[in-house]
Amino acid sequence: MAMDVNDARRYLINLTGIVQGVGFRPFVFRIAQQHGLKGWVENQGSRVLIDIEGKGEDIREFTHKLQNGYPQNARIAEFKICEQPFWGYSDFLIKTSCLEANTANFLPQDVAVCESCMKEFNTPGDKRFQYPFISCTDCGPRYSIISSLPYDRKSITMSAFEMCPQCASEYSSPSDRRYHAQTNCCPHCGPELKLLDANGNTVNSTNPAKMASQLIYQGKILAVKGIGGYHLCCNAESSAIQRLRKLKNRPHKPLAIMARNIEAVKRICKVSEKEEEILTGIRKPILLLYKRIPEYLPQVIAPNQKKLGVMLPYAPLHSLIFAADVDYLIMTSGNISGSPICYKECDALSSLKNVADYFLTHNREITVPVDDAVVKVVDMQEVLVRCGRGYAPLTLPIETNHEILAVGAQQKCSVCITREGFAAASQYIGDLNEYKTFRVFEQQINHFKDLFGYCPEVFAHDLNLDYLSSRYAKNQIGQKIAVQHHHAHMVGCMAENKLTNDVIGVIYDGTGLGTDSAIWGAEFFVGSLSRFTRAGHLQYVKLQGGDSAVKEPWRCAASYLLALGIEPHEFLPKIDPIAIDAVKAAISNNIKCFESSSMGRFFDCVAALCGFFTNITYDAQAAIELENLSYTDVDNFYTYCISETENGLILEYDDILKDILTDIQNGALKQLISAKFHNTVVEATAECICKIRKKTGLNDVVLSGGVFENTYLLERLILKLRNLNFNVYYNRLLPTNDGGISFGQAVAASAIIKENNHVSCCSCKSYQNQ
Ligand SMILES: [Zn+2]
Ligand SMILES: [Zn+2]
Ligand SMILES: [Zn+2]
Repeated sequence: MAMDVNDARRYLINLTGIVQGVGFRPFVFRIAQQHGLKGWVENQGSRVLIDIEGKGEDIREFTHKLQNGYPQNARIAEFKICEQPFWGYSDFLIKTSCLEANTANFLPQDVAVCESCMKEFNTPGDKRFQYPFISCTDCGPRYSIISSLPYDRKSITMSAFEMCPQCASEYSSPSDRRYHAQTNCCPHCGPELKLLDANGNTVNSTNPAKMASQLIYQGKILAVKGIGGYHLCCNAESSAIQRLRKLKNRPHKPLAIMARNIEAVKRICKVSEKEEEILTGIRKPILLLYKRIPEYLPQVIAPNQKKLGVMLPYAPLHSLIFAADVDYLIMTSGNISGSPICYKECDALSSLKNVADYFLTHNREITVPVDDAVVKVVDMQEVLVRCGRGYAPLTLPIETNHEILAVGAQQKCSVCITREGFAAASQYIGDLNEYKTFRVFEQQINHFKDLFGYCPEVFAHDLNLDYLSSRYAKNQIGQKIAVQHHHAHMVGCMAENKLTNDVIGVIYDGTGLGTDSAIWGAEFFVGSLSRFTRAGHLQYVKLQGGDSAVKEPWRCAASYLLALGIEPHEFLPKIDPIAIDAVKAAISNNIKCFESSSMGRFFDCVAALCGFFTNITYDAQAAIELENLSYTDVDNFYTYCISETENGLILEYDDILKDILTDIQNGALKQLISAKFHNTVVEATAECICKIRKKTGLNDVVLSGGVFENTYLLERLILKLRNLNFNVYYNRLLPTNDGGISFGQAVAASAIIKENNHVSCCSCKSYQNQ
């Protein structure tokens, strides 16, 4: 097309965001072709540079499409365009990636198999018919197979497979949908499946996936290698599930289900439009959904829960392991309870040999273990419960020029790094008390360092120096910044909601060290990203037992009852009186006692009084079961008292507990007690916040902390506060539990540096708490 020189324009466009591994350059190429534009496009680390020439009108349409029609997995964080002198290019080119290691900020996330690929997968005669490693520019593993940046064939574990001529031709044809698809492969040139027995011996089979599906159908337990690691998989029948629970040492914690398709999900759970969108979307996480009653599947999958964790097949391989008339499979992380997920074949074979009867595995290596993400819908919004496949790493813009490494807390640990205006939070790593998990934590940090070419100068950690994450940070060379646990919760929630001014922070949590050495966990803060004052808290109680009080909720109840001067025996009838007396003696002699304002422990106390006093086998089990049995149509609540002291508001527990004890003595149903207790916390919280608003004039309320995983509590409180005309913010992009702590620490540390008011972590007590 001849160009009228007067009408010709040239622009340089600079895009940053998730633009690698998502088919961005082929997309740019296609729209440039459509409009007859010339120039070039190039990947540079985390940005794409486009030099574009043509008619002004065509360029306008091109930039419109660029910003509005980009590939579904891409994210544009910044768009800059500036006019250049006309050059006179003769065609449009995709330049090969130029590595500027120091500019890489964004890592592409793993994407579930797309519809186009599934269509080919299900078409007999297609070259990739039933091929479990089918992928394209729109789908396939990314983050879990990357070993360096920029994202290219040579920087992912697919580099071990040389493309056959046919695949190579797809890869290099601009009109092909696999143009520059870095994971491109086919049965002739790509990875292959194999089936191993429990001893690691190959089971001869022409179709290992089909054989695996038959073994699962027969009730066997299989370890199946997926995208970010191994799953333990069995059929959804009681006998297989019970065997899996026993071998995995996971007696009660809910197990996730993979349903064949969305119709199968709807048969077992209620699914809203929003929920269907999440289930069938490009990330395909585990979604927590309300069960249909009567339950269709065995109760043993998620005992004492109203919800089930359900996902749809997201790797092509999954579609092969559903036998003909099977609609549901149990799919749980391939680990022994407490250990990290296995992602290497040798590790899986040694760690899971006593659980799995067979291993369905393959030779596409995983570079970083990524569990399935867990999400739910709250307040009509998608809320992340556990960051994992499809969501990790989570990259958010923050204001910083520093390279900070934030190491998180102890349980539900994750790490977060910052640089040049961005923070990247890792996937859920787990509980660092477990040695193997601590090793994964170190590996994750090193992986980030390698990928980003990154050398942190600042280390942000929890005030609690007993945490292994804090110890790790203390041993590094560089500046150390201790961030109070609940301040980190608040700041993380502020940052994801783009709040920078002072807010009222309500942090309801399990355990976190306070600046007065007490265990905090029901905190009313007034503050910003860099500082806070404690405007109020739940009345302290002297709790006895440290970790054992967390694992045995009846110990919390005994401590609370003794604080009220009440003999615990009557209210804990199933507990050995000798054990109760031991707690009593320890409290009067101050042995292993600590002051606590933890909301998590208060919930444990009430759960124990309602009958959940045996040992729990997973985190917060008693409180979760208390929430699950609550009536949802009850509005009344217990009497409560808030006192105003020179140290701020004290939400007292005396009246609440005494009312609960009266209800118990009168034989009230625990469903009712639970509902009234939840409502009391909502009412009392709202009143405290109103009192703080009166004093400060602040109207923005941030709700964070592990206790807000309690959907009943969170939804009721949001509603209540909105009715009182507050702006209410809660965690959606990051977990409200300790999985979100590292991000909060990173943002807080960066704000503290900026305002130059950081105090050395050696003097924790002088942490900003005026
Ligand atoms: Zn695809
Ligand atoms: Zn091939
Ligand atoms: Zn916490």
